[in-house]
Amino acid sequence: MTPDTDRTDANLALFERARRVIPGGVNSPVRAFRAVGGTPRFITRAEGAYIWDANGQRYIDYIGSWGPMILGHGHPAVLEAVQKAARDGFSFGAPTEREIELAEEILRHVPSMDMVRLVSSGTEAAMSAIRLARGATGRNKLVKFEGCYHGHADALLVKAGSGLATFGHPTSAGVPAVVAQDTLVLEYNNLSQLEAAFAAHGSEIACLMIEPIAGNMNFVRASVPFMQRCRELCTQHGALLVFDEVMTGFRVALGGAQSLYAQAIPDFAPDLTVLGKVIGGGMPLAAFGGRCAVMEQLAPLGPVYQAGTLSGNPVATACGLATLREISREGFYDALARQTRTLIEGLKSEADAAGVAFSADSEGGMFGFFLLPELPQNYTAVMKSDGARFNTLFHGLLERGVYVAPALYEAGFVSAAHSDEDLARTFEAARAAFRLLTK
Ligand code: PMP
Repeated sequence: MTPDTDRTDANLALFERARRVIPGGVNSPVRAFRAVGGTPRFITRAEGAYIWDANGQRYIDYIGSWGPMILGHGHPAVLEAVQKAARDGFSFGAPTEREIELAEEILRHVPSMDMVRLVSSGTEAAMSAIRLARGATGRNKLVKFEGCYHGHADALLVKAGSGLATFGHPTSAGVPAVVAQDTLVLEYNNLSQLEAAFAAHGSEIACLMIEPIAGNMNFVRASVPFMQRCRELCTQHGALLVFDEVMTGFRVALGGAQSLYAQAIPDFAPDLTVLGKVIGGGMPLAAFGGRCAVMEQLAPLGPVYQAGTLSGNPVATACGLATLREISREGFYDALARQTRTLIEGLKSEADAAGVAFSADSEGGMFGFFLLPELPQNYTAVMKSDGARFNTLFHGLLERGVYVAPALYEAGFVSAAHSDEDLARTFEAARAAFRLLTK
């Protein structure tokens, strides 16, 4: 009997109940397992590197709430900070010292930012950054890249028009075509499209928004020459370079992906940075920031309006602050990066042993793997992956207690709680799961 037909399966019972009251049974689409099929696991609790579902089944968690849980679940110092903050009050709608402390802690590690505004989700942060870029430049158009996700604000839910490098069409119903018309969608890592877009529209472009290491088409790095050209063209045409580091910020390195590009490109810095996930440690918290001259365009100082009832929430800021303090300890990222590399190397050798085409990459505590012989450089290449094979691998791992993202276009995450033993158990599961692909 498969779990999907097993009437005693508590996950299935919850899924059926959920579907009656919540569209699709979930509050964010990818959780529904639509791409991979089967029943989503309803999680009852988490600790360290593990999560447990409603059947009491334990999984090694390589999703980590899609990135935030860099310390693993329930880290004692974070738990204590959150419990203390909750006792002092859930929300005041008035400023607190902890917001300053969190802002100072973020700015200390991200030198391209002089000021930061706290919000509650990555969507809100990206949407606000776009409004700020438009307000600060007095321009309307923006550039984004195919395969990059920046949350679900209207102007960003846009796919390329009749070919890439054209103004876009809405990806979602409910987005007016007129909103999508100002969004130019280009191919990631494609220098000639980038040049052509700025040559044609440079004086109208408010900003170029990019995931420097794209985690929403699995794991694809922007090449150094490509990023350098993004910076040069933005500067030359008076557009703002906006780094969406919701996923990569404090995840791939303490200074985010921008610290890696700054090592490779002289005087490199983005104009605006969007953060989320890790800076909230698992609580609803995100941020956007940049140089004073741009940030001072925001209300109450400037004409660009932006606000939030729960912004800078005292419990969320306590969680984020305690998380950032733990991860800024000496050697944290070296150890995390080493463990993540060990994971992908181990998976690679299991795939090789089974004769399965496989490629993988990682940076800090973020990784991606493909059932392709070589790492793809853009969305079209990522989508050449065979979905059916990925689904077999996904369920093969899940049944053996290893929980990776339920879609081939999502990145994975390792936390400081993932032990050598967890990795060894993962390799054992992978050995069996890869064999399913060769049958
Ligand atoms: N930007 C990036 C790069 C993301 O990965 C995400 C979410 N995965 C978002 C923005 C949106 O963040 P949120 O889900 O918190 O709205």
